[in-house]
Amino acid sequence: MRLETTTRGFTGSLAYRERARQVLARGVSSSPRASQLPVAIVQASASGCRVTDVDGNEYLDYALGYGPLLLGHSPRPVIDAVRAELERGLRTGGVTSGEAELAERVAACLPSAEVTTFLSSGTEAVQLALRIARSHTGRHRVVKFRGHYHGWSDGMHVSNAPGSDALTTDGQDPLAVRNVISLDWGDLDGLHAVLDDTVAAVITEAAAVNAGCFEPDPGFLEGLREATERHGSLLVFDEVITGFRLGLAGAQGRYGVTPDLTVLGKVLGGGLPISAVTGSARAMEPVSSGRVLHRGTYNGNPVSVAAGNACLRYLSERADELYPDMERRGERLTDGIREAAARASAPLAVNRVGTCLQFFVSDRPLERLSDLVGLDKDATLAFSELLVERGVMTLPRGLMYLSVEHTDADIDTTIGAFESALGAFA
Ligand code: PLP
Repeated sequence: MRLETTTRGFTGSLAYRERARQVLARGVSSSPRASQLPVAIVQASASGCRVTDVDGNEYLDYALGYGPLLLGHSPRPVIDAVRAELERGLRTGGVTSGEAELAERVAACLPSAEVTTFLSSGTEAVQLALRIARSHTGRHRVVKFRGHYHGWSDGMHVSNAPGSDALTTDGQDPLAVRNVISLDWGDLDGLHAVLDDTVAAVITEAAAVNAGCFEPDPGFLEGLREATERHGSLLVFDEVITGFRLGLAGAQGRYGVTPDLTVLGKVLGGGLPISAVTGSARAMEPVSSGRVLHRGTYNGNPVSVAAGNACLRYLSERADELYPDMERRGERLTDGIREAAARASAPLAVNRVGTCLQFFVSDRPLERLSDLVGLDKDATLAFSELLVERGVMTLPRGLMYLSVEHTDADIDTTIGAFESALGAFA
């Protein structure tokens, strides 16, 4: 299917922006949402992998709530479980039996998981994981990798762009990152040079999704495992995106490397807010013993827990069929976009890790994370606007997630939209 023209109007979203900006800072509740062009689309309703906006435009959705909606926007088992839970009363802040059930499900899925604790956001969970690592080791420094994102806390919101060691936002406490060492991803020599008896943890996205959808170099994760073990540091996999998305066992299952601690979020809650830190009983001992405190009014809230249990139950029962199907569709979409770009002689590159794709406007090959240094991000934002106009919603920076709801026909339509956008791209 080839979409030639766009007739979409955004007057409703534009009018909302004007109203919201009067009372809602920047008109949105999370900064990246403001980067969508031509305007942050105001969603009226959603079903499966489709979103309808307040102007009546329909989109095939590959933003999927920034990743959590692996089951799409309206998964019956999750919605039914949430409804049933609501009927039992909110019980926010109370202990409910679904929490242990969810922890049991996590342990059944992930090689690294034995004991789990729940929080509300990935940002908080990363902070807890690093606290656990400091408590375990009596050390204070943390190694992270440039281009990787581990949430927006003062202590981790640094070196988020490839090749950069910069803080990420105005107002950040520069002293909060003084114990963070940033390295290039894949640089085992650099790691060996900095690992000493002051390093509590090495934290990494096990597949670099935020940094452009790159798989780890063969042997790199094994190298991290071996080096951290040798130096007595903890290895932390941030699987906020990859957990339950790259397979039931996440990136650690895909690559066969088991970290000490794993941070989970997004898909864990099937679309509702919940996050977790999990690890072996030994790794989690600082929390189990009460030495490391973690707090949070909404931690393990029953509604999110019910959604998480329904989501993981659904995925566990169908994993053998769902994950290979999604992976195959991801491959088809990637190949289709690449072929369309080649036919149009257009400077569009696409990377893929499983069901995560990232396109970039680039006239050079992007084989490694370091190839992204100096890339024109605005050109990719402009290309994603062309897709919005053609009914395909991605993250504005070009990241796309697949869900179980995307069909082969949806993939064909999407390839058609890319083809049309490439035709319009000057
Ligand atoms: N870690 C990774 C890898 C992420 O992608 C994100 C969010 O996108 C976070 C941590 C932070 O999670 P949250 O937005 O729930 O705070």
